[in-house]
Amino acid sequence: MTISSFIPPQRTLMGPGPSDVSAQVLSALARPTIGHLDPLFIGMMDEVKSLLQYAFQTENEFTLALSAPGSAGMEACFVNLVTPEDTVIVCQNGVFGSRMAENVKRIGANLVLVERQWGRAVDPQQLQQALLAHPEAKFVAFVHAETSTGALSDAKTLCEVARRHDCLTIVDAVTSLGGVELKVDEWGIDAIYAGSQKCLSCVPGISPISFSEQAVQVIKQRKTPVPSWFLDQSLVMAYWSGEGKRVYHHTAPVNSLYALHESLVMLKNEELENAWQRHQQMHQQLAQGLKELGLEYVVPANERLPQLNTVYIPQGADDAKVRQYLLEHYNLEIGAGLGLFAGKAWRIGLMGFSARKENVALCLAALKDALV
Ligand code: PLP
Repeated sequence: MTISSFIPPQRTLMGPGPSDVSAQVLSALARPTIGHLDPLFIGMMDEVKSLLQYAFQTENEFTLALSAPGSAGMEACFVNLVTPEDTVIVCQNGVFGSRMAENVKRIGANLVLVERQWGRAVDPQQLQQALLAHPEAKFVAFVHAETSTGALSDAKTLCEVARRHDCLTIVDAVTSLGGVELKVDEWGIDAIYAGSQKCLSCVPGISPISFSEQAVQVIKQRKTPVPSWFLDQSLVMAYWSGEGKRVYHHTAPVNSLYALHESLVMLKNEELENAWQRHQQMHQQLAQGLKELGLEYVVPANERLPQLNTVYIPQGADDAKVRQYLLEHYNLEIGAGLGLFAGKAWRIGLMGFSARKENVALCLAALKDALV
């Protein structure tokens, strides 16, 4: 049997990620592979770090791109910071909050759950009550942009509440980075992880992360080694550190980092505020069109993520058949519901390079056709 090259179709990606990757980023990926300890590559890594500091709005020295997907970024935050004697408050309003809770359980730490109905933002009042009931809590963890529901939580207020109770914060920004306002230093976020494949519109498989000085101190003062060798950030940092000699830790995904560099250059050129505004504008246009099609949002208007629009599947429409129709006739991918919303909702992404007028128009026309 001969197996030939795999040539994927040209899809328009309007699901929960990955998002459309621009030709500019794809061409960066195809540049010649060089050694991961080549001085020129190391220089590029330094630029990735400073571009990430810009994207995260932080001066954190400990800011880098983990050679693994967002889930590894999440695990890196938990395994480095949390030890079995700690109490961690996890705010859970969807699938990705549940995964944070799972990390805490697997470490053997004391988990306190602050649960909110799926489709709603995390409630700062509920967090405040949990903190009063658990003065021993050391960390507060929450998902800024819950991709399973399309809810945006008020990260600034949640961090303020956590800090008033002397807790460090662990924040999932996988879907928020580059798509909505996010200010790591101003909001006092201690550990944050993101993903390359959402609003940065890079290829999947890289997780930008950043730790505050206080979080770094917590890692330095650990009495036991980090239980994961690959995710031990003291080792990873020696590989990424700007000064002195790089210490080999693993082989970085060289070409994927070219792509991340390119996508971050595009973000810097556009400027963060403009990117946030573009996501908001495209969301407004899409929301108007979805309303005209009679589709209803899951999330209340003031808690909605512009980059992930979750709408109930209308009565009489066949979930799988509609999505298949969009793929076959329009090369358009929208997302199925996840967790509690499986079979009940669609998730329409407007992330990064996908947040464009032509995508909004295509999606509305295709849905209109599919739903007749
Ligand atoms: N957290 C959130 C909010 C996500 O949306 C995702 C992926 O969709 C992840 C974490 C996990 O990221 P990855 O799939 O890159 O491992």
